[in-house]
Order: sequence, then C-alpha cells, then structure tokens
Amino acid sequence: MTDTRSALPHLPASQCLLGAHLSIAGGLENSLYRAAALGCTALQIFTKNANTWKERNLKPAEIDRFDAARADTGIRAVAAHTSYLINIATPDRNQRARSCAALEQELIRATALQISDVVLHPGSHMGSGETRGLEKAAESLNAVLSKQPPTTARLLIETTAGQGNSLGYRFEQIAALIEKVEDKPKIGVCLDTAHIFTAGYDIRTLASISDVMRQFDAVVGIKYLKLLHLNDSKKTLGMRVDRHEHIGEGFIGLDAFRFILQDSRLAAVPKIIETPKDAHGQEWDRKNLERLRSLLSG
Ligand SMILES: [Zn+2]
Repeated sequence: MTDTRSALPHLPASQCLLGAHLSIAGGLENSLYRAAALGCTALQIFTKNANTWKERNLKPAEIDRFDAARADTGIRAVAAHTSYLINIATPDRNQRARSCAALEQELIRATALQISDVVLHPGSHMGSGETRGLEKAAESLNAVLSKQPPTTARLLIETTAGQGNSLGYRFEQIAALIEKVEDKPKIGVCLDTAHIFTAGYDIRTLASISDVMRQFDAVVGIKYLKLLHLNDSKKTLGMRVDRHEHIGEGFIGLDAFRFILQDSRLAAVPKIIETPKDAHGQEWDRKNLERLRSLLSG
C-alpha cells in the first residue's frame, strides 16, 4: 500500500491505485490485460454474468490463469462487483434466501481469485420501509459473513442514488448497516461520486466535497472507506436517478475528482471509473483515466 504521508502532495500517477471496471469477455484474466493496456493500477470486474442468477463455478485452470495474469501485470488492487439481481433487503423470504446464496457464491469466487473486496448494493426494501429493509439487509449480511468455511474477501456496501425503494442513499443508512454487522473486519464501504451526488450530497466545489467527506467521516468513519467509484453524473443534485457520465462532462465537474485524487487520506484507496462505454468503450476509458491522472497534481 502507498504510504499516505510521503505520497502527497505530488503522488506519481504510477503510485495511485486508479483503474476501471472492465470486461471479463474471453476469460477472467483478459480483464487484467485490458487494464494493463490502459495503464491501470486497479481493476473492478464481475466474476460472472451480472444480469442472471446463473452461477459460475471457477475451474482450477481459470484461477491459475488469473493468478498468472496478475503477476504479469502487477495489478494488485482488484475488486469484484456483485450481480445486479441480488437484493438482501427484500421482505420476500425466498428472494432473500436466493440473494444470500448468490452473495455467498460471489465471496467464494472472489476468495478463490484472491480478490480482496466485493462490492454490493444494500438492496431495495420493496415497499416494506427503510427500517425493516435495513434490518433484513443486516440479517442477510450476518448470515452470509458467518458461513463456514469462512471466505476472506471483504464485503463493501456501496452508496446508492436512492432510486425507487433502494437503500444506502444516506450515510446514516450505511452507518446503521455497519453497526448491525457482527464481523466488522469483513465489512467496508464503496463510495460512488455519481450516486452520492444525485442522492443529494453536493460535491461540486472543493469546499462542498470537503464538507461531504467530513460528514462521511463523522457518520460512517473514513476507516471503512475501501473503494471509490469515480463517475460524473448525467443527472443533477438530488434527482435520485443513477446515470453515469464521462469525467468532467456531467453535473459534478472536475473539482470533486481533483479533491479526491489529492486528498492524502484517500491516497491508498483504489479508485475505479464506471463511466459509459458507448461505441468506443476502450478509447473513452483511456480518455477518462487520463483526465483523472491530470488532476493528481496541480
Ligand atoms: Zn458504482
């Protein structure tokens, strides 16, 4: 990990853990080579098709190829994002059981691949109310994290835009969830700039992002912040709609990203873009990463 004191104020781009969410098409290990080709020092992937319930059992040869690619590329900071279908907060017992089983498989795959962090949306209460939703989510987390044999990957609760009945759009909800989790070392937070912004946290100026990070620290605790999703937003403040935009081209602008990239407390936290891929995905990733690197100093 980067020494946060000596690394700043002028953190070389090579030391910053900066990367993108990339495709595993053609094999899990290809995501690492794609990342290396983009100059990434961090990476996020799905370890299966995120839009289906169908599970994916990793074969030893796949794991070996992933390990080898990791050694080849030197990319250490790898996170996995869980399937979009998982809802650990639902009042429906069957759906919750299915979600917990899928989440367990996510942790098993991540552990096999030595992926340290697994990103999870806290889920939707489906009309049952926020209090009950948070209770169910916490119950689910405790059930999954106490499964035997234990998995080593840490679960990161992602801040959300708060669309519909989804939970996690207030730092207080994230804090309430963490408080209910028994195995604290197994839990962390992934903060997404686009999500918190449309959820109502104004981060458009250096002063406002600084204040929002202070709120995060006071309510959740900065020690729980293990991953950052750096996305601009197509939707403006408080709209509670989740639409990512290219860095500097949305309603957030560059100051929030400049602040995050230069804040010594966040130097060791991996930063991942999930910006639109459009027709020329690879080129856009390159452009967005370059924009962020240019904000590392000055
Ligand atoms: Zn995100």
